[in-house]
Amino acid sequence: MALSKAVTRRVQLSPNYTTANRSLASIRAILIHWWNVPSAGATHGGVVSWFMNKDSKVSAHYVCSANLVTQQVREKDIAWHAGPANRDSIGLELSPYCTAGDYQTAAELIADIWKRAGRIITLEPHRAHMATACPGDWDLGRLHRMALAIYRTPVVTTPVIPPPPVLPPAVIIPEKEKPMSLTTQNVQQIADAVLNDRRHDLNGNANTQSFKIANTNNQVNFLRAEVAGLRGALTGLVDVLEKDHVGLKAHVSDEIDRAVAEITDVVEEA
Ligand SMILES: [Zn+2]
Repeated sequence: MALSKAVTRRVQLSPNYTTANRSLASIRAILIHWWNVPSAGATHGGVVSWFMNKDSKVSAHYVCSANLVTQQVREKDIAWHAGPANRDSIGLELSPYCTAGDYQTAAELIADIWKRAGRIITLEPHRAHMATACPGDWDLGRLHRMALAIYRTPVVTTPVIPPPPVLPPAVIIPEKEKPMSLTTQNVQQIADAVLNDRRHDLNGNANTQSFKIANTNNQVNFLRAEVAGLRGALTGLVDVLEKDHVGLKAHVSDEIDRAVAEITDVVEEA
């Protein structure tokens, strides 16, 4: 879809058409009209209503002006806009005011048809087929160049970069509970739980495709910072223990060093 988000697309089908079963491959030209001379003051909505009136006996596939495209005849069916040229063409009824916005939306609509057809389809003025001034001031060379630029623009997809993992809150021991409520066993349980969480996060990150894609210094540095944060949190815990459980400090420090080394290995491997 080459139509930009700014463009409103409507379908208001006209009763004025010949049923056919055309494929885009069978379309020879896109026929360009303007819907009247500018001095007539006709509006997009007025033209759409006229084409929906059975008595008018005229139609086009699309009425198009700045940021508004109204489809009135299905592309597979034949619209009534250019006599003998109807059979193998798609008819575009453009605004006679020829503003930059009118050009932009028309170019997007043409590029959209081209993309669905998988090829460039010639633009032809109505006057190439009948004695008429239509499409007046429209510059089909300019319109073709603008449509071509849109047609050739590849679809850009923005890579989704996952947010960095959120660090868990530091283990904070309430003042009133320390140090008497701490035992060797529950200190180790706390340390193990924290380390297991971090190890799980790090392994999980290492296994995702996004991590592999983003395996840059930034990512590694981020993980190093996580390890440093963990070391800080656990060092704080050790400081608490030091006050009343001096004998425990060496043991827990060894455990922490060992676990941090493990995590660091995971980071290095990543
Ligand atoms: Zn015309």
